[in-house]
Amino acid sequence: MTRTKIFLKPGRDKSVRLRHPWIFSGAIRNLEGAPESGDPVEIYSAGREFLAVGAFSAASQIAVRVWEFARNIEIDREFLRERIQRAVALRPRLGFVPQQGCRLVFSEADNLPGVIADRYGATVVLCLLSAGAEKYREVLAELFLELDGVTGVYERSDAAVRTREELPMRTGLICGEEPPEFCSIEENDMKLLVDVRRGHKTGFYLDQRDARLRVRDFAAGKRVLNCFSYTGGFGVSAALGGAQMVTDVDSSASALELAGRNYQENKIAPEQHESIEGDVFCVLRKFRAEKRRFDLIVLDPPKLVESQKALIRGARAYKDMALCAYGLLEEGGVLFNFSCSGLMDEEFFRKITFEAALDAGVDAVTVGSLRQSGDHPVLLTAPESFYLKGLISVVTRRLPNRNDDTKE
Ligand code: SAH
Repeated sequence: MTRTKIFLKPGRDKSVRLRHPWIFSGAIRNLEGAPESGDPVEIYSAGREFLAVGAFSAASQIAVRVWEFARNIEIDREFLRERIQRAVALRPRLGFVPQQGCRLVFSEADNLPGVIADRYGATVVLCLLSAGAEKYREVLAELFLELDGVTGVYERSDAAVRTREELPMRTGLICGEEPPEFCSIEENDMKLLVDVRRGHKTGFYLDQRDARLRVRDFAAGKRVLNCFSYTGGFGVSAALGGAQMVTDVDSSASALELAGRNYQENKIAPEQHESIEGDVFCVLRKFRAEKRRFDLIVLDPPKLVESQKALIRGARAYKDMALCAYGLLEEGGVLFNFSCSGLMDEEFFRKITFEAALDAGVDAVTVGSLRQSGDHPVLLTAPESFYLKGLISVVTRRLPNRNDDTKE
């Protein structure tokens, strides 16, 4: 089969040579051939030098996602099997026990652009994000079903980014057996139930594994406020760390209901936790009005920055919630705040958090930073695969009200 050849504009070959896996449509000079979306195409410099083979996408700004930088590579079952095996083999080396719950494949970072695969017990949940990944949907599912102990592959290709590739939303069993009503996973001695059919994303936020463990270190005897709690991951972890009381806040009733079951699974006493269904921004303000105080607050909002244009608005929201949280913390209180927006870099996030402390009238020190867990690796040549960052800060002093202070 002759593949379409894509020639880049002069000078636009630098990033491919540095093994960055995306070719933007604006870098393309011309095509020799008429590829369909998802087809493998060959990338050449303006000087007709071979650079890479990748998956073509007609609709996306990212016109090609590179499969491989070498020549004469077939993108077939064997190629994909080797890639999956490599990714799967990495996890145990990082200390993960895949059947307990773990991301097996993280897209570009595992050299499988557009492919996300999370394992929950005997079920693999597949989320395909690009035309290239979509083209191999059945083969990929069959290959995941071949893995030791996997009995079914369930699809959750209902991420909004699929619209950029003009792909329809699709969910349901692809092959093997239907998953149980709830998949049971284990994370640092926590038992958690995951609803792969109705849960967010693939069912669970595996990327916060390290952070949920870290919260436990700070939790003994504390009043914990877990904002954007989803199914209670941080809250259960804090309770296992000996928290006096955990308050979960989320806008999703079904997430809170499953959180309740997760506390039960871990034998946490009902009087050790409560949940509030509501908007975090409103609940924080209500607590401020009631002069409620906490010793540990977690802020783990959904992605608030979807585009460069939305960065400033998103930054305001991150700042606003951190400001409110600092206002509710006692001296010595700890804030864990996160941003999973890739467009928000770590330094900017630190600045926002610092401004929030300043405006809240507290002195705070950072005592740690957090990132997505190791089953969501970051490709060194593609910093875009780094997205989740968090700060641990401690309120060292609540400052006297400055307005009162400066009055004669
Ligand atoms: N911390 C969780 C993951 C949080 S995901 C964990 O460890 O698993 C973000 C959550 O925020 C979702 O459960 C979503 O329902 C909730 N959410 C989004 N916007 C919200 C808002 N304005 N107020 C309250 N909850 C919100």
